[in-house]
Amino acid sequence: MYSASFEYHRAGSVDEAVALLAEHGDDGKLIAGGHSLLPVMKLRFSRPAHVIDIRRVPELAGIREENGTLRIGATTTQAVVASSDVIRYRAPMLAEAAGRIGDAQIRNMGTIGGSLAHADPAADLPAVMLALGAELRAVGPRGARPIPVGQFFVGLFSTALAADEVLVEVRVPFSPPRTGGAYEKYADPASGYAVVGVAASVTLGDGGAVQRARVAMTGLPSQATRLTGVEAALTGKSATADQIEAAARRALEGVEVRDAVGSDAAYKANLAAVYARRALTRAVERARSA
Ligand SMILES: Cc1cc2nc3c(=O)[nH]c(=O)nc-3n(C[C@H](O)[C@H](O)[C@H](O)COP(=O)(O)OP(=O)(O)OC[C@H]3O[C@@H](n4cnc5c(N)ncnc54)[C@H](O)[C@@H]3O)c2cc1C
Repeated sequence: MYSASFEYHRAGSVDEAVALLAEHGDDGKLIAGGHSLLPVMKLRFSRPAHVIDIRRVPELAGIREENGTLRIGATTTQAVVASSDVIRYRAPMLAEAAGRIGDAQIRNMGTIGGSLAHADPAADLPAVMLALGAELRAVGPRGARPIPVGQFFVGLFSTALAADEVLVEVRVPFSPPRTGGAYEKYADPASGYAVVGVAASVTLGDGGAVQRARVAMTGLPSQATRLTGVEAALTGKSATADQIEAAARRALEGVEVRDAVGSDAAYKANLAAVYARRALTRAVERARSA
């Protein structure tokens, strides 16, 4: 099906995008890579009368390091994130998660900002951002504001972004020494979306015990969610295979699993535990060699 007709605008700057959003109110919608917006427009779930293209706004693209932070522009494509040497070095789990999104065509068009703003419950990057403790930067008519990632995802396809705001940047703090991160997903064989995906970041203390664990899941819950049961079970413990297994078994503790995801509860609990264990095991290996 074709989308409903709309007027196309190409913003040349963030200020212009914000002004166009303000001008068109509920009738305006940003487009970046278009790989989530266009499908919903073709299905007529979304019918914006004005589509505002931000893909060629120069200040929105690119990756740089500044003041202990990795700064990634919102329209940086998933392919660029996956292949960036800086990201592979600073946040390898982000590069590996971006590299497993859909297929090459999706990654060449899809952007990091579009992926986060769309907040698909089966998307990969929201869980990674939670595990990395990222901060998102939004700009709107009232100026710029930081949004800690823990406050960004508020429900199914819902974020803390106001309708008149542009997500401009993702800031990922450099990890402390002896930190390792990993992302593991069981992908839907047709789309690549996560049936379940677990992102884990583990920091080891001097004695080898887990000083800090940040673990988040996508796919099964209605929004990317920190796995606080897993984190609590591992923090302060030595990172042995048994401790990791015991912690991973708590993956669904306090997590509301979506009905839309098929199969029975025991299967989902096992899937969650297996992928949590795999992500934690690789994160710990990386922390040991960091
Ligand atoms: C076949 C297929 C397979 C896929 N597989 C996966 C997968 O395995 N894993 C995965 O994570 N994703 C997957 N995706 C989704 C893909 O990654 C999308 O590209 C991504 O979710 C959206 O990014 P985009 O740049 O295309 O955003 P768009 O489609 O352009 O926009 C999506 C939404 O975000 C808003 N938006 C975009 N940029 C901004 C911004 N800077 N500020 C505020 N709002 C903004 C738009 O208004 C729109 O509402 C798949 C998509 C398809 C079609």
